[in-house]
Amino acid sequence: MALFGIVQGGLDAPLRAESAAALLALPFDGYAVGGLSVGEPAEDTARVAAETVHLLPDAAPRYVMGMGTPRDLIRFAGLGYDLFDCVLPTRNGRNGMLFTREGRLMIRNARHARDPRPLDESCTCYACTHFSRGALRHLALAKEMLAAQLATLHNLHFYLRLMREIRGDLAAGTFPARAREAAGAWA
Ligand SMILES: [Zn+2]
Repeated sequence: MALFGIVQGGLDAPLRAESAAALLALPFDGYAVGGLSVGEPAEDTARVAAETVHLLPDAAPRYVMGMGTPRDLIRFAGLGYDLFDCVLPTRNGRNGMLFTREGRLMIRNARHARDPRPLDESCTCYACTHFSRGALRHLALAKEMLAAQLATLHNLHFYLRLMREIRGDLAAGTFPARAREAAGAWA
């Protein structure tokens, strides 16, 4: 078990610095940045996340709370964050929005009705190896719970794979290529 201190302070840089200094005086295992991704403009999220990460020791895990899209994960990992959490892969999956290497896929769209391909041909999850887009669309339109379960499974698999690749890229020194690829696919 690891105990994290959570830096608060809203969008105010001096308050963030004061909060971080107070937490650093205590023996936490890691540090989180809270109070972001709660409806503020995206440029404010990015500014505060970028400013605050530098207030925290890079030897400790740094966790930005409530993030994010695949692009956000790549962007904030690039800033030095290690941990994330977000409802997007599960909530969006239940609503029929799937993350793929080519971008977002809305499974209820009519163009998937007779498509025999998997959601993502590069994905090894149970949904992609057992169900076609057409079958998944049918399940979603029929309001079968299985549609939400398969979509959730796929999206979580996508996120875990992305983070695994980011870790590998950071260790190998090839991280910038991942960021460029994401900028194209998820723009
Ligand atoms: Zn999949």
